[in-house]
Amino acid sequence: MQEELLHSVVKLTKTRDVDSLESSLLSTIHEFIGCQAVSIYKSLSANDVLEVECCLGLEVIDGKRFQWSQSEKLDNPSPELLSCLNSACIIAIQSNDGVEKRWVPITLSDKPIGAIAIVSKGLGSAEQVLLNAFCCIYENYLTILHENERDKLTGLLNRQTFDKKLKQLIEKQVVKHHKTTKSKKDRQNQKETVSWLAMLDIDHFKQVNDNYGHVCGDEVLLILAQVMHSYFRPTDLLFRFGGEEFVLVFEPATVEEIEALLNQFMEQVRNTKFPFVKKLTVSIGVAKVGPYDFPIHVLENADKALYFAKENGRDKLCFYEQMVKADKPQTEDDSGIDLF
Ligand code: GH3
Ligand code: MG
Ligand code: MG
Repeated sequence: MQEELLHSVVKLTKTRDVDSLESSLLSTIHEFIGCQAVSIYKSLSANDVLEVECCLGLEVIDGKRFQWSQSEKLDNPSPELLSCLNSACIIAIQSNDGVEKRWVPITLSDKPIGAIAIVSKGLGSAEQVLLNAFCCIYENYLTILHENERDKLTGLLNRQTFDKKLKQLIEKQVVKHHKTTKSKKDRQNQKETVSWLAMLDIDHFKQVNDNYGHVCGDEVLLILAQVMHSYFRPTDLLFRFGGEEFVLVFEPATVEEIEALLNQFMEQVRNTKFPFVKKLTVSIGVAKVGPYDFPIHVLENADKALYFAKENGRDKLCFYEQMVKADKPQTEDDSGIDLF
C-alpha cells in the first residue's frame, strides 16, 4: 500500500500541465479512497458574481467501470459547495441512506479557487487524512504550475503557454463541432458563433517610457492588465505576449458581439486614469479561430489586422475576415460591413 501510494504521488507530480494533474488527482483519489464519484470544481468569480464550473468529474458506474465528465458550468451550485468556496473550510453532509458528500477547498495564494467534491459511503479517519493530503499535494503543485504559466509583472498568462491553451480550445471546438453539426437543419438553425483571437498593442508606448520612465511604463502595463482582467469574462484567455502586446482569446460569440465587446473595452481604456499619461489608446486586430485552424495561422491573421489598424490611424479595431472581404470584389450576398 505504502509503495503504491508513493508511486501515485510520483505520478501526480510528474505532470506538467494543469489538465493532466487534475485527471491524475481524480484517478488517485478513486484508487485509494473508496468513493462513488469525485469531481473538481472551480470558481469563476467576476465582478463579485460567483459562478462555478465543474471542470472534471469521475463517476463509478455498476461499482466497477467509471466515466469521466468534462467542463460544465453549474446553473445552481449546491449551498454546501458555495459555503465551502466562501469559507475555505471542509464541509461534509451525510444523508439518511449513509451517503456522504464532502467538499474540500482548494486555495491558491490564500484565496479559495475551487473544491474537490467526493461522494462516498462515509470516510474513515485514515481515508480523510489521505484525501486531505492528496488535496494539499494538488494545491502545492497547482501553485507552481500556475506561477509558471503567468507573466511576472501583470499576472496574465505568458506566451509560452499560448500554443498549448489555443490547441486545447481548438480541440474542444472540434468535438463540439461534430456534436452540433450532425444534420443540415441543425446547421441552418445555428447562429454562427465561433471563437475569436484578438491581438492588442498599446499605441505609442515608447513615448510613455521616453517621457516618464520605464517604471511608469510598467505601471501602465499593470493597470491595463487589471482593466482587462476585470472587464473580460473569467473564461476568456488573456496573455501578455511580450512588451506592450497582448493576445486575448474569447469564447464562442458572433462577430457583432465581439465587435461590441471590444469597442466598449477600447472606450474603457480611453477613460482609464493612468499615472502621468493623459490619454492612452490601444489598437486591436481580430481573427476567427476555426475548429481546424493552426494557432500560428490565426496569430498571423490577427497580426495582419493589427498592422492594418496601426497603419490606419491607431486607436482602431480591425477584423481580419472583413479586411480580406473588402479586398475582394463585392458580390450581391456581401453584407458590406464597415472595416472598423
Ligand atoms: P506603436 O503605436 O506603433 O505600437 O508604437 P509603440 O511606441 O507602442 O511601439 P514600439 O514597438 O516602437 O515600442 C514599444 C516599446 O515598449 C519599446 C520598449 O521599450 C517598450 N517595452 C517593452 N517591454 C516593456 C516592459 O516590460 N516595460 C516597459 N516599461 N516598457 C516596455
Ligand atoms: Mg505599441
Ligand atoms: Mg508592439
